[in-house]
Amino acid sequence: MKNIIVLGGGYAGIHLIKSLKNQLKNEIGSSVRIILVDKNPYHFRKVLLFKVVTEEVQIKIPFEHYCSEGIEFMQGEVLNVDSTSKNVELKVENEQVINLPYDYLVIALGSVAKVNSTIPGGISLGDEKSALLIREQINDLIQCAKLIDDKEKQKDALRIAVVGGGITGIETVSELVEWYKNKLGIAGINPEHGEILLLDPKEHLLDIAPLKVCEKLEHKLRDLGVKFIPKTRVREYKENQLHCENGAVYSVRTCIVTNGLSANPLIKKMGLPLSEHNQLIVNDIYCVNGYNNIFAIGDCARVVDRKTNQIDSMTCKEAVPQAQRLGKILTNLLLNRPNKVTHKGFPVKGYGISLGPHEAFVWAQKWGIDFVITGKLGLRIRKMTWDQASLVTNSK
Ligand SMILES: Cc1cc2nc3c(=O)[nH]c(=O)nc-3n(C[C@H](O)[C@H](O)[C@H](O)COP(=O)(O)OP(=O)(O)OC[C@H]3O[C@@H](n4cnc5c(N)ncnc54)[C@H](O)[C@@H]3O)c2cc1C
Repeated sequence: MKNIIVLGGGYAGIHLIKSLKNQLKNEIGSSVRIILVDKNPYHFRKVLLFKVVTEEVQIKIPFEHYCSEGIEFMQGEVLNVDSTSKNVELKVENEQVINLPYDYLVIALGSVAKVNSTIPGGISLGDEKSALLIREQINDLIQCAKLIDDKEKQKDALRIAVVGGGITGIETVSELVEWYKNKLGIAGINPEHGEILLLDPKEHLLDIAPLKVCEKLEHKLRDLGVKFIPKTRVREYKENQLHCENGAVYSVRTCIVTNGLSANPLIKKMGLPLSEHNQLIVNDIYCVNGYNNIFAIGDCARVVDRKTNQIDSMTCKEAVPQAQRLGKILTNLLLNRPNKVTHKGFPVKGYGISLGPHEAFVWAQKWGIDFVITGKLGLRIRKMTWDQASLVTNSK
C-alpha cells in the first residue's frame, strides 16, 4: 500500500483531495492510502476574512466535508519533513510528536500575511484573531470619539486607514465603509466624520488592467465613500500618525495592513530547494526539484509556465488548477500510466473584487477584449468563485 500524505487543507489541499478521490476511486483503501494533515480541524476560507471584521460569519468548514470515501484526516501541526527517512514530523494531541511515513508527499502549507515591521501598531489582516481585533479596535474608537465635541478633533479620532490596495485591501475597505457609517449613526455621531483611507504606492488600483478599467473601479470606491490615496508608500505608523515616504502625515486611529503574503515560514526548515521568495521550487509536474516523491502546490510553491515564463501568483485562481492537475499527475504515477499532464499558466487575465455586501467588480481580459461586470450580477459571480474555491454551494 502506498501512502500519499497531503500537508495543508487550504484551497490547494482540498482540491487535490477531491481530484484524487475522483481519479483513484477503486484504489483508495486497497493499494493507496491518502491522509490529509492540517493543524486545524477545519478548512479556513481565508478569502472571506475581511467579512469577519464586520460581522459574525462562519468561514470554517470541518474536514469531514472533504474527507469521505476512504480519505483520512489527521489533525496535527507539521514541524518538519525528513526527506531522507521519508517522514513528516507532526505534533498531535497532548503535545505528542510523531513521525508519519510517506511514499508520496504533497506540501500545500500555504502562506501567511506579510508583517511590516515599520507599521508595528498596524494590524495585518491574516487570520481570524486579527480580523476580530480590528472590529474591537473600531468599536472602542467609536466609544472614545463620542466624548469629543470639537468636530476636527472628532474626525481625527475616527479616521481609519487600510494600507495596501491589492484585492484584499479593496475588499476590506469596501466592506468596512457602510458598516462603519451605520455604527457611527447608531452611536449618534455624524457618519461624515468617519473617514476611511486606502493608501497604495501605485498610481492606480488593479493596475494590471487597462487604465479605463482601473478608473472605473476607483470611481466605484469613491461612490462608496472610500478615499483612495495613490502614489503613497507608508513609512511608519507611530502614536496614531501615519508617516508616508512623500512627507504626508495622517492622523489615524486604526491602521489595517494588507500588503501581501509570504510563503509559510516553516518551508525554510525543510532543507528543500527554495526560490528568492522562499517558495519551494517545482518543475512542470509540481515535483520539488531533485525529489521525485515530494510535490508542492499553492502559495508555498513557485510555479512557472515553462512556455511563457509566467509565474503563478499567490491566489486561489492559481492554487485550484494546480491541485486539479496534480491529482491527475499522481494518479498516472501510481497507476504506472504515461503522464501528459503538465503545468500551464492561467489563460485569462482577470479578477473578481467584492465592493461591500451589495455589489462586486469583475474584470476579465480575453482575446484583447476587456469584460467588466458590476453590481449585483458581479456579486453573484464573486460569490460563485468563493464557493467553488471551497467546494461548497450557495453559502452565505
Ligand atoms: C485576507 C486574505 C484575502 C485573500 N483574498 C483572496 C481573494 O480574494 N482571491 C484569491 O484568489 N486569493 C485571495 N487570497 C489568497 C488566497 O487565500 C491564497 O492564495 C490561498 O489561500 C492559497 O491556498 P493554499 O492552499 O496554497 O494555502 P492556504 O489556504 O494558506 O492553506 C494552507 C493550509 O495549511 C495549514 N497549515 C499551515 N501551517 C501548518 C502546519 N505547520 N501544520 C499543519 N497545517 C498547517 C493551514 O491551516 C491551511 O489549512 C487572500 C489571502 C488573504 C490572507
